[in-house]
Amino acid sequence: MARLLPQSGALNMAFDAYKLAVPGVRALKPYVPGKPIEELEREYGVTHAIKLASNESPLGASPKALAAAQAALTEMARYPDGGGFALKRTLAAKLGVSESQITLGNGSSDILEFTVRAFVTAQDEVIFSQHAFALYPIVTQMIGARGVEVPARQWGHDLAGMRTAITPRTRLVFIANPNNPTGTWLRRAALNDFLASVPAHVIVVVDEAYFEYVEEHDYPDTIEWLERYPNLVCARTFSKIYGLAGLRVGYGVSSLGVAELLNRVRPPFNVNHIAQAAAVAALADATHLKNAQSVNAEGMGQLVKGFEKLGLPHIPSVGNFVCVEVGEAGQVYEQLLRAGVIVRPLDNYGMPKHLRITVGLPEENRRFLVALKTALGR
Ligand SMILES: *Cc1c(COP(=O)(O)O)cnc(C)c1O
Repeated sequence: MARLLPQSGALNMAFDAYKLAVPGVRALKPYVPGKPIEELEREYGVTHAIKLASNESPLGASPKALAAAQAALTEMARYPDGGGFALKRTLAAKLGVSESQITLGNGSSDILEFTVRAFVTAQDEVIFSQHAFALYPIVTQMIGARGVEVPARQWGHDLAGMRTAITPRTRLVFIANPNNPTGTWLRRAALNDFLASVPAHVIVVVDEAYFEYVEEHDYPDTIEWLERYPNLVCARTFSKIYGLAGLRVGYGVSSLGVAELLNRVRPPFNVNHIAQAAAVAALADATHLKNAQSVNAEGMGQLVKGFEKLGLPHIPSVGNFVCVEVGEAGQVYEQLLRAGVIVRPLDNYGMPKHLRITVGLPEENRRFLVALKTALGR
């Protein structure tokens, strides 16, 4: 029988994984997630820490979703439904689209990656905005394509600038509406004009992770435009307002042709059984959704009032998070950690003076504002 002998092969050579990696991966800067509560408590010796750092829902999941997840645990030994039948059927009915227009993702991050895998080669360009969601450059570089970052306008997407950046090599444009981390948003007319102006060789992904939080009447529901724009992909998630971030489930909605291709690159069992069951149940709990919306609106008001009292400028946000300008943000972040409050520093977003705060429960917001005041020496 053939055996690997210790003195043969790779063991004797100077093995360098980095050298073997494809160029795009070598240049990658990994995504920096919010600090987990357990890590802070372990490292800083604090207790009762709170996390306002990852735009998670302070209300958690709907009790109905929790019950559905618990019931689904008994099926753990079986593979999930790879076609996501029940979840797709529920989503399709709710959104007024056909089931075959839906692509399920292990979080909507999956959808962002699938669009790149399905439509972009290493010779192509992908456009996104400065200060936009950190995953866009990552999924672009991963396959060795060129990322084109268009300077932001007042912290938001400059659609005219992004239109100008489109070349014959452009295959994909990422638009976050609203954008994370800045909370800025695009109005119906502006986004529609942009989509109408995009040439047919370009896919446009509109990332609507915070869709359910937005209350502005002029905020577009891009799913209504899918018939008009067959090159449009709308990405949404259960991680944010539905409170299922830990289960990882999101979806893309697009024209049939695009969905068919996205489903080809989708790993067959990318959304697990428990996540599918919880997501179906979450969609049925309108009361929980309304609660989450009003807790957020109230908490946003509380935070903004607190910033104004402290004389700190903030970027007006329609999401469940807000960026506040604190000067030496790195130092303030550290002070907050010592007080047991985790927020998000934004140097990797090119915003070294800002911190991003996720709207929490009233008591969490209050604790954060007190800690912030202390950190600033006021
Ligand atoms: C959180 C977030 C997502 C996706 O999160 P998933 O947990 O992968 O669904 C996508 N886009 C933006 C802008 C986000 O903030």
